[in-house]
Amino acid sequence: MQQEPIIICDNLVKVYRLLGLEIMALQGLDFVAMPGEFVAIVGASGSGKTTLMSMIGGLEQPTSGWIHVANHELSQMNQKQLNKYRQNSVGFIWQHATRNLLPYLTSRENIELPLLIGGSLTHDKEEYIDQLLKMVDMTDRSNHRLSELSGGEQQRIALCIALINHPKILLADEPTGELDSNLAKQLFDTLRKLQKELDLTIIVVSHDNEIKKFVDRVVTIRDGRVATETLKQTIQLVEKLPTETPLEESLQETDHQFEEMAIFDSSGNIHIPDEYRKHLGIKRRAKIELIDDAILIRAVENDDGTTLKSIQQIREQKMQIQIETQGNVFERIYQAGRKRLHTKKKEKQSDDG
Ligand code: ADP
Ligand code: MG
Repeated sequence: MQQEPIIICDNLVKVYRLLGLEIMALQGLDFVAMPGEFVAIVGASGSGKTTLMSMIGGLEQPTSGWIHVANHELSQMNQKQLNKYRQNSVGFIWQHATRNLLPYLTSRENIELPLLIGGSLTHDKEEYIDQLLKMVDMTDRSNHRLSELSGGEQQRIALCIALINHPKILLADEPTGELDSNLAKQLFDTLRKLQKELDLTIIVVSHDNEIKKFVDRVVTIRDGRVATETLKQTIQLVEKLPTETPLEESLQETDHQFEEMAIFDSSGNIHIPDEYRKHLGIKRRAKIELIDDAILIRAVENDDGTTLKSIQQIREQKMQIQIETQGNVFERIYQAGRKRLHTKKKEKQSDDG
């Protein structure tokens, strides 16, 4: 029987409105993940990665399109249903996840605290905490205060907290942003172990392309759309090796072989890498031709890119206005805050005096 995807994002659009300006964070994004997959989403800053994660995590709802995660139709759910979904169906770790931990409590106490507050700390949960601590190799450090742990160790405690309610999906937004490459590798080893032992689907976001070494599949987002997908290629290369090569060796040989593929969105759009277009002098128009087993894309004459240039200019102007307006608004909010503070101080002084 073929498995059903655990995450389906269909033509997701997210528009943020800020002071009459519209920011298209996602522009018709399609994304699917199968149960138990370990997928990385990479892309430049501002490409829409966090927006997508917030949507899969039920923190934000799309402007249009639909999103289905672990038997939940998120785009149709109300706030109460979304709260429950966030509590039970997904676990999160963020780049600054450890900032929410309390330095003067022990690792164990930090994991127990949210359960104590919510009144759901049971004997079973206590046992599960032991299991989780063991899986992330933190049993020995469970009675150490957070302030005595390294950044990587604190991150492991954040992982236990994310997994305490047995979610099927773990979302991690730039989890290695503050770790050096050695610690980052360790974190990915731990994630891989958790994925196997807890049957998790893991989605990790990063701006770092190197992450592809650690995952099964990499999806690249550009301008709020999926542009390419990279799969680890194993079978082909194993076949090419001499048959007497031991399996372990042949797997090591193939470990870091990747194949990047362009992705068509549901309207048939595809992203051609900028450097290819530049190389051929393609700006706005191209000829497309079907040959035997391929499609040729050729530059056309008189492609001066005029229309494209004006679109780019308008976009840049809009961005500039956006940045300036945002700046002004923050400045005004800041000044208003200072003024209030000043008035309060004055009032207090006159009260005291
Ligand atoms: P990434 O995580 O890839 O850096 P984001 O998803 O954070 O990208 O942002 C995508 C775009 O949406 C950016 O242009 C960003 O400025 C904008 N954006 C994100 N969140 C908001 C928000 N709450 N309000 C307005 N604009 C936002
Ligand atoms: Mg982000």
